[in-house]
Amino acid sequence: AKSEGRARYVMYDADRNARQAARYALAADMPDALDRDEFTVVYQPLVSLADERLRGVEALVRWRHPARGLLSPDSFIPLAEETGVIVALGRHVLQRACAQGAEWARRFPDNPVFVSVNVTVAQAREPAFPAEVAKILADTGLDPRLLVLELTESAIMDADGAPLAALDVLAASGIRIAIDDFGTGYSNLAYLRRLPIHILKLAGPFVDGLRDPASVATVDEQIVETIIQLAHVLGVTVTAEAVETRPQADRLRHLGCDTGQGYLFSRPLPAAAMPPLLHNSGPA
Ligand code: C2E
Ligand code: CA
Ligand code: CA
Repeated sequence: AKSEGRARYVMYDADRNARQAARYALAADMPDALDRDEFTVVYQPLVSLADERLRGVEALVRWRHPARGLLSPDSFIPLAEETGVIVALGRHVLQRACAQGAEWARRFPDNPVFVSVNVTVAQAREPAFPAEVAKILADTGLDPRLLVLELTESAIMDADGAPLAALDVLAASGIRIAIDDFGTGYSNLAYLRRLPIHILKLAGPFVDGLRDPASVATVDEQIVETIIQLAHVLGVTVTAEAVETRPQADRLRHLGCDTGQGYLFSRPLPAAAMPPLLHNSGPA
């Protein structure tokens, strides 16, 4: 039995080595892939829950890998963080999203939609980050008020509880800051009071537990309601992520949640698929 265990161990090890090698290959490939323009951006609608009209879009990166097909960000963003390529990749996505947002704003002046862009810890801590954002806004002509930057709590606060230095500079230019995946970490509402944060994105697991508004509120539902109320007291709007069902959307509206995002309204779409939504009665 001992030798059997050993064989299993060796197999597991070989497996893990193969996976590691694949990860390294993918990571090493990223700078060239950027040059070859293999990263594309798709856009997921964010709708106002009151009327379900399009209010904004979240930019989500995809890698059109020549050999491995369309890769989702979960398979390469963590790697890009490890190698530092995230700084260049993040700049690329921001540039694309701002250019796209500016084009929509020119073509559809009656329905200005904001673009919301994800920013990782490494990117946000780059000293040049605020200057780069300012340059991209100037180059693309996007109104700063139409840009939202999504940061997780770990990007906003460092381990000592000190807030990100760039936050005030970014907010002062009219850019709005969103806390992404709120409720997945050691969420703490206290800093909403002190920091220039405009939007709270309620993480999927909170939304999962919601049922139709007619049913008696569970403890989870009461927690969501309390978060929304507290955010509103602090002047922060709330967006619910991963809204998949009609009862969830109805409950969220009932609880006062401002905005929704999720498959119920729309999957992430290529930019070319967005104009009908911008014309607008919103996503069907
Ligand atoms: P995220 O910021 O939480 O983005 C939302 C994710 O939820 C997206 O996954 C989206 O496709 C997915 N989603 C949308 N609606 C639903 C729904 O109704 N149900 C469920 N279950 N999921 C839904 P995606 O596009 O695979 O992105 C995964 C993560 O990768 C993102 O999570 C974000 O953290 C990261 N990411 C994506 N693009 C970028 C980027 O350009 N830069 C950085 N730094 N990170 C990115
Ligand atoms: Ca996000
Ligand atoms: Ca999120």
